[in-house]
Amino acid sequence: MIEIDNIHKSFEANNVLKGVYADINKGEIFTIIGPSGQGKSTLLRILNTLERPTSGQIFFDSNDLFSGKKTPVEVRRRMSMVFQKTAVFDMNVFDNIAIGLKYRGYSKTDINETVNRALDEIGLSGYGGRSAKTLSGGEMQRVALARAIVSKPDVLYLDEPTASLDPVNTEKIEDLILHYNKEYGTTIVMSTHDMLQGQRLSDRIGVMMDGRFLQIAAPDEIFSRPGNENVARFIGINN
Ligand code: ADP
Ligand code: MG
Repeated sequence: MIEIDNIHKSFEANNVLKGVYADINKGEIFTIIGPSGQGKSTLLRILNTLERPTSGQIFFDSNDLFSGKKTPVEVRRRMSMVFQKTAVFDMNVFDNIAIGLKYRGYSKTDINETVNRALDEIGLSGYGGRSAKTLSGGEMQRVALARAIVSKPDVLYLDEPTASLDPVNTEKIEDLILHYNKEYGTTIVMSTHDMLQGQRLSDRIGVMMDGRFLQIAAPDEIFSRPGNENVARFIGINN
């Protein structure tokens, strides 16, 4: 579904991505794992077309994302992203989730039905009228996920979705990620620095270090047969 072909990205003299290759399959949960500062967020932003690569190509269902000046809106609309630092808008919870649907021409009835179902899924039924700014971090992250998923994207990009959460909220977010993947068939590409989270959720993991994927494989394979010393050391550090 998504072909990442020799992506390079530099910020002035800082070469962050140095030849990233991967093929992401429709319907899978693919996790980018690596220490901080390795370019996980940068790669996700490029995939979501928020950033242009310095060189290389990304094909999304055979659409070359960066061949023109702008990625066509109908291609862009098939993707959603949730950022590490959750942004809820200063409005109520219902409107936070509904915000993209109005632009997509949903009717009022459709919006009500979709948002109420989403509130139910994230365990926040009855919270629709509440100011989003008054939610806890875990609740905000669930609202951000709901906002991203109600527009029925084919792929959901999640940048360290549980980075600042306690174990209980982390489990809730992980359950939601699995739910969206299984229930809606949403392809999920996420990043984390938590190897065990990668193991819990992923069909495949890409270990990102030194600006590229050192290994891409199923979690069990990475644990039992780390591709090289650096991968082995990273797994060791995280256990
Ligand atoms: P990770 O998500 O793995 O922690 P990032 O993608 O956030 O890594 O960052 C990788 C490197 O790129 C870091 O050195 C960071 O400082 C740099 N970087 C990221 N975004 C920018 C930017 N917009 N301008 C300059 N440098 C950036
Ligand atoms: Mg990051």
